[in-house]
Amino acid sequence: MHRNKKILFDGDQAELFSKNYSIKCSCCDQCSYISPLECNAASNLPSEVLTNVLSSIKGLKTVDLEGSKFYKVDNLPLKYIYFECKKCHSKYLSFFGLGEYQPARFIFKLLLIISIE
Ligand SMILES: [Zn+2]
Repeated sequence: MHRNKKILFDGDQAELFSKNYSIKCSCCDQCSYISPLECNAASNLPSEVLTNVLSSIKGLKTVDLEGSKFYKVDNLPLKYIYFECKKCHSKYLSFFGLGEYQPARFIFKLLLIISIE
């Protein structure tokens, strides 16, 4: 488990979603490129995955909204992406804070990367 909190983007919404962002494979150092458009809400993950992971994310807040749970970190919605290293085929589950931080200011922040089978 890697706690490499890192701001990937801070700025305009259109620019944020027009780019791809590189994440290094911890096995072979190959970069994978991910798009914020691929991000899914963390609440869509199976609860057994969430239970294992959420305690590792610092500053996590759970928001209950009409019976549905949402997760936020530093006021940003918690999102995830699965990706696979093209070189060594290691698989990862990565977590991000992604959203509008202040009016017209968008942040995309890498929070946590976990190796999975
Ligand atoms: Zn790799």
